[in-house]
Amino acid sequence: MKKVDVLIVGAGAAGLMAAIWAGRTNPKRQIVVLDGAKKIGRKILIAGGGRCNVTHYEVTEKAYAGASRNAIKKVLRQFDAAQTADFFKQLGVKLKREETGKLFPVTDQAKTVLDALVREVTKTATILPDHRVESVQDLGMHFEVVGNFGKIQAQKVVLATGGKSIPKTGSDGQGYQIAQSLGHSLTNRIFPALVPLTVPRNHWIRDMKGVTLPVTLELWQPTGKRLESFTNSMLCTHFGLSGPAVLDMSRYYLDAVGIEPDVRLTVNWVPDWQYDDFIQHLKSERQQTPLQLLRSLLPERLVKAILEQALGSDNEGRAATLPVNQLSKDERRKLAQMVTRFQVPVAGDRGFDFAEVTAGGIPLKELRLSSMSSRICPNLHFCGEILNVDGQIGGFNFQWAWSSGYLAGISV
Ligand SMILES: Cc1cc2nc3c(=O)[nH]c(=O)nc-3n(C[C@H](O)[C@H](O)[C@H](O)COP(=O)(O)OP(=O)(O)OC[C@H]3O[C@@H](n4cnc5c(N)ncnc54)[C@H](O)[C@@H]3O)c2cc1C
Repeated sequence: MKKVDVLIVGAGAAGLMAAIWAGRTNPKRQIVVLDGAKKIGRKILIAGGGRCNVTHYEVTEKAYAGASRNAIKKVLRQFDAAQTADFFKQLGVKLKREETGKLFPVTDQAKTVLDALVREVTKTATILPDHRVESVQDLGMHFEVVGNFGKIQAQKVVLATGGKSIPKTGSDGQGYQIAQSLGHSLTNRIFPALVPLTVPRNHWIRDMKGVTLPVTLELWQPTGKRLESFTNSMLCTHFGLSGPAVLDMSRYYLDAVGIEPDVRLTVNWVPDWQYDDFIQHLKSERQQTPLQLLRSLLPERLVKAILEQALGSDNEGRAATLPVNQLSKDERRKLAQMVTRFQVPVAGDRGFDFAEVTAGGIPLKELRLSSMSSRICPNLHFCGEILNVDGQIGGFNFQWAWSSGYLAGISV
């Protein structure tokens, strides 16, 4: 049976990072990275629309959910965004900062990132694609790792198998079962995050497909308490809603609705106006009709749909001729509601096939965060998305992979 010192399961962002730092820390050991996929790094290649948003200029624990922010911060500060940029620079990948604060390779090509990582890993470790791990057994003195390649004996194992998002890239949740077989638990729920949301089949939103605009999305408890809010671009599609605001909100909505089915998700189509301001404007504006007013704020197709919903389809003439200050109180209220607090009738989400990340996973409290080592199984380490941490759009998920991968690598 083949014997190795360090076996890393998963050659995604976190596993490659762990391999590099394991090799840099002690190059004398035999380090092997196994990946079930025939071609490694597919998620890196598709990330950021093929440009790979490597990290964010300003990474804080506030951009993450899942584990406690304090625990997440402990990991992030050990290898922060500035260190990430330096690390990639050393590998020959210069990063540029975009207006949004996102950092991309100057080449605008994710392949630059993957190639540099693989080049660096192979200085001190071996990467074996098409090596899918089925089980890892702790035999006390060592681990026995079994898969489509037979058996490998390893002194130390790093589980970097990712979550369940886009399973065709190779990350299908197998790592969770392996972790559980070694004594770890999973969060109660594992669900898609950064995922588009669907609306019922015949809903008018589906007819708005192609409309993109900045909005504020807000998540409300039935008591009226606001739980979360995101202002960013939203895209209407043939199935429902997507775009950064929706993706960022999705994990909070799906988390909350799993506990309290009556939570509400609302859209403010005009983020610069609040409900009360809008009502005041409707009361005072003599010159404009509802049609003119909305046309100055929103795309034409959306204006028609909103007026129809708020004033009824029979009132098209009134919307085009009546000054807004002559609308009835009820009409003003309905219009302001539709424009600033439209309740999205969420039917569901697009699932793991379309989710950028996974919410839930191995709880951080089962690890020593200074080394990402298991408190339950000696010589076992974790890094990346397999853990109960998910970040917002903007490079935060890769940053989690780099930070946790670094710690697992130097410690293993
Ligand atoms: C479309 C898309 C775009 C994204 N864009 C960005 C972005 O621009 N910026 C950002 O920060 N984040 C982005 N993300 C999220 C980011 O890609 C992930 O959070 C990150 O890649 C997770 O890294 P990981 O190494 O933990 O897991 P993964 O990248 O999922 O890697 C896990 C690896 O383990 C392997 N594996 C799984 N099970 C086994 C097994 N049993 N045996 C052997 N190997 C196994 C898999 O084949 C895979 O290669 C995006 C995600 C998607 C899907």
